[in-house]
Amino acid sequence: MTFSIHGLAVARGIAIGRAVLVASSRVDVAHYFIQPEQVISEIRRLRKARDDVVDELQRLQKDMPKDAPHELAALLDVHLMLLQDEALTAGVVHWIRDRFYNAEWALTSQLEIIVRQFEEMEDPYLRERKADMEQVGERVLHCLKGTGALVVQPKRPQRPQQELQLGDTDVPLVLVAHDLSPADMLQFKQSVFTGFVTDVGGKTSHTAIVARSLDIPAVVGARTASQLVKQDDWVIIDGDAGVVIVDPSPIILSEYSFKQRQAQLEREGLARLRHTPAVTLDGEKIELLANIEMPEDTAAALAAGAVGVGLFRSEFLFMGRQGNLPDETEQYQAYRLAVEGMNGLPVTIRTIDVGADKPLDEARHDAAHLNPALGLRAIRWSLADPSMFLTQLRAILRAAAHGQVNLLIPMLSHASEIRQTLLLIEQARHELDRKGMVHGPVRLGAMIEIPAAALSLRLFLKHFDFLSIGTNDLIQYTLAIDRADESVAHLYDPLHPAVLRLVADTIAACKAQGKGVSVCGEMAGDVGMTRLLLGLGLRSFSMHPSQVLAVKQRILLSNTDKLRLWADQVLDSDDPSALMQR
Ligand code: PEP
Ligand code: MG
Repeated sequence: MTFSIHGLAVARGIAIGRAVLVASSRVDVAHYFIQPEQVISEIRRLRKARDDVVDELQRLQKDMPKDAPHELAALLDVHLMLLQDEALTAGVVHWIRDRFYNAEWALTSQLEIIVRQFEEMEDPYLRERKADMEQVGERVLHCLKGTGALVVQPKRPQRPQQELQLGDTDVPLVLVAHDLSPADMLQFKQSVFTGFVTDVGGKTSHTAIVARSLDIPAVVGARTASQLVKQDDWVIIDGDAGVVIVDPSPIILSEYSFKQRQAQLEREGLARLRHTPAVTLDGEKIELLANIEMPEDTAAALAAGAVGVGLFRSEFLFMGRQGNLPDETEQYQAYRLAVEGMNGLPVTIRTIDVGADKPLDEARHDAAHLNPALGLRAIRWSLADPSMFLTQLRAILRAAAHGQVNLLIPMLSHASEIRQTLLLIEQARHELDRKGMVHGPVRLGAMIEIPAAALSLRLFLKHFDFLSIGTNDLIQYTLAIDRADESVAHLYDPLHPAVLRLVADTIAACKAQGKGVSVCGEMAGDVGMTRLLLGLGLRSFSMHPSQVLAVKQRILLSNTDKLRLWADQVLDSDDPSALMQR
């Protein structure tokens, strides 16, 4: 039966495919595809983890004191029975053998199915066994931890030719999950998913941002999607409307297939603008830059016609590594790859911005403070660990010997933070000099993403060559709206007069002093905001490569002279969105 689920549209387009569910788990679980030749060893890994847990429980049973409550022994019996149930193992083996999921992913997928079956049981005693099932599953997951593949295969493997089943590897897949960490998303970056849906997340949550960089239709904040959609269901993801249609009827399917083809034609039309300079009707040259997460993304940036990288979110090099952070050489190589990948065009490398909804890994995330968005995040994190920060600074300065590099610092707000940062940059240079290592010059920039920073621009302009407005956080902190929380997503408003005032003042202050200014938050890639930002005087936009051409199309049809007056009216209005609809 067809039904639809509503969420937030975060990445445009239509995807039609079979659902692959990534079950949520309290244990941090890696999701990756194994290769066909790894199937046997993966099943062995799973069985060993299960046997280890069985041994552990049997030991507990044996050593149980005589006076232990009777219920405890009964509970262990239930857990052992569940663990040794062949139906569980057979189910997990199916996901490994037929879908090439790694053991953890296979186990959580099967657990999700079984847990749902328990939930539907009439008998309250049996219904409560759901919690036992989850506990048993978590024990096995813990045992599996650290025994997985070292080299992760994000690509969906092809079956060996003789086993190929009709339509098997060319059925498009869409991902449905309760939540995906940005690190998980990165893992899926080169995979075959043609769309994705998550229960949680706001429009500018980091998961949504990475989704946009995948350039596949996506809906976040779809609340119960991962409970309502079943493995293998046919699903349509309408990334324009933020709607997910499950089990579509043939008529709906053909309507969306038509829309999908239309969108493809539009894309092909836009691709023709790649080499067209971004110049407005009145001759203003606009700089269109790309936001990237990994050095390899420079290929997409160039393909989209970006004239540089305006934001390299370096934290993605650090994520999901279980504490094994990249050293100076590894970082230097990554930054150099990005710099060389841009063929002489400028690359803005932002120092690490972890914390809040970008945990390094789940273990550290658990230890996070009560209010992570207001906690030890970004530059605060770096300054709290100067040796880690110096390592990153040295790596960036060394990469700067290979091309134009801008060094961008996130989340500054205090003069003391600016002072410490500048001192550490100097120190990093001295250390390189002492070791006789080559390094290059950098232009120094600060993100303006905390209202306090936007209200103390004089301080920032004194120390930095350019400013980059991080509207995602600027909106979050100005309006006190957690950008990752779908329950307050309706209040996350780029057009709030306070936000517009801070953005406008930052642009104006930079222009008055002849300093560079760009917007690198999601606002820059939103075609609905292009004219307003042009009217406010912005001439440099940084966004995901997938958004560059659509924004360029808007720019080519805009006249900044006319937009200036209108932007002033919007800025002075109590209800800017009413004026935007003109
Ligand atoms: C921003 O806050 O607008 C920004 C670009 O940084 P991030 O989204 O990585 O926090
Ligand atoms: Mg930010």
